[in-house]
Amino acid sequence: MQRIKNYIGGEWSEAAGGGQLENWNPARGEVYSTLPDSSESDVEHAVQAAKQALPEWSGRSIRERAQFLKKLAAGVDAHKEELARAESIDTGKPFHVASAVDIPRSALNFEFFAEAIAQFSTEFHQTDAATLNYTLRSPWGVVGCITPWNLPLYLLTWKIAPALAAGNCVVAKPSEVTPMTAQMLSEICHEAGLPRGVLNIVHGSGSKVGAAIARHPEVSVVSFTGSTKTGGEIAKEAAPYFKKLSLEMGGKNPNIVFADCDFELALKETLRAAFSNQGQICLCGSRIFIEASIYEKFKTALIERTRAMKVGDPFNPANDQGSLVSKLHYEKVLGAIKTAKKEGGRILIGGNPARVEGANAKGWFIEPTLIEGLGSQCQTNQEEIFGPVATLVPFERERDVLAWANDTRYGLAASVFTRDLGRAHRFAAGLRAGVVWINCWMLRDLRTPFGGMKDSGVGREGGFEALRFFTEAKNVCLKI
Ligand code: NAD
Repeated sequence: MQRIKNYIGGEWSEAAGGGQLENWNPARGEVYSTLPDSSESDVEHAVQAAKQALPEWSGRSIRERAQFLKKLAAGVDAHKEELARAESIDTGKPFHVASAVDIPRSALNFEFFAEAIAQFSTEFHQTDAATLNYTLRSPWGVVGCITPWNLPLYLLTWKIAPALAAGNCVVAKPSEVTPMTAQMLSEICHEAGLPRGVLNIVHGSGSKVGAAIARHPEVSVVSFTGSTKTGGEIAKEAAPYFKKLSLEMGGKNPNIVFADCDFELALKETLRAAFSNQGQICLCGSRIFIEASIYEKFKTALIERTRAMKVGDPFNPANDQGSLVSKLHYEKVLGAIKTAKKEGGRILIGGNPARVEGANAKGWFIEPTLIEGLGSQCQTNQEEIFGPVATLVPFERERDVLAWANDTRYGLAASVFTRDLGRAHRFAAGLRAGVVWINCWMLRDLRTPFGGMKDSGVGREGGFEALRFFTEAKNVCLKI
């Protein structure tokens, strides 16, 4: 059984206390590797290694740092097959999804920020003929990156790449539920000759390792992606140190279908938004609002498409859906379906564990599930389920659906399907969400600001926003 190790100061090590956590293959329901159960002293060790590496790394030219990022992109690309395999085993997601989405995007994250840092510039303000201002932007120093299990390498590299490009050294903590590709990334860093201590990866639980990073006085900024509850805990830990935080958190995203939409396009994208990655994407459209005049037709077609989806072995290319990420999460999602029924929801399709035969018989699979008959205020339509579960709600009036779409504590993303340009602009302006997709879903340009409003997030990632986050601005005022 493979033992995953911490990567600190360019070397692999066990947790200082020697403890191990189990790493599960959720599609088989079995433990297949272990990872260090690290603690505060491992984080301390990593912070010191990062501090030591900092002067040399931050002193390198932009071009040199960009070249390292390009090497990491090439390293990910060279190992794409093994990485996709590992991501699929760790998460339960189909191998074809990991191959087409997770791993190419991880390589692209490094490549993108290698280019972005070369284009990044600071401001100049001329006050009058004799007074000039310019802005210096310097790396913060040691930064913390804490990431979730749903897109493990994709989200880890999305933070590490801009942090390193900007000249910081990183202490990263991948999810303890899906640590394998972070271990493989440490090997890629080693092969690429990334200087020791520039990137340190500490494995373990959130309550020990994550919290220790959040409260470490020498970690100046923390970039976090995960649940809103954990974001709140990190904010509390970090508050006494006045740390700068980027928090990317949960969502309960509306998917609004108007009668004048391109029916086939709306259907395809709605299905994708509801069930991609077994519904375990923060951006998933889990509340589907459909204009009443096409409600029955759209519902029937959506049920048909859902019925055609195949759930099972992540390594069978015929399957659209793999397993959920863990037993705990599987039980949480089944609990949410039970709550929906108690609230008066009617299950249109799914609603049960999916039976899978053979080697995956003990895996944690759930049927893609559609529910109708629930109002906007019920728990099912208010709380993030983060599984293959979506609700259908008919609407008559534009103003009602806008109000319902905005009526949750979350504000991450929204999709609108319509051919009416005026309405598209009205919804783009009126929706309280950090990302609004019109006639599409999860179409990403990495230069755009990414993040959530309300309880979905603080700050923005993506493009220059990320480089601004990972640098501290200083105004220099020069009187001639
Ligand atoms: P989580 O909050 O449980 O864990 C995320 C990370 O935080 C993990 O590495 C975990 O170990 C760590 N952590 C847990 N407790 C901690 C603590 N007290 N202090 C510091 N770190 C701690 O989230 P998850 O279950 O891994 O991921 C699912 C959640 O992530 C969903 O809510 C989803 O919406 C959200 N998510 C958001 C985005 C986004 O971009 N907004 C993207 C992906 C996932």
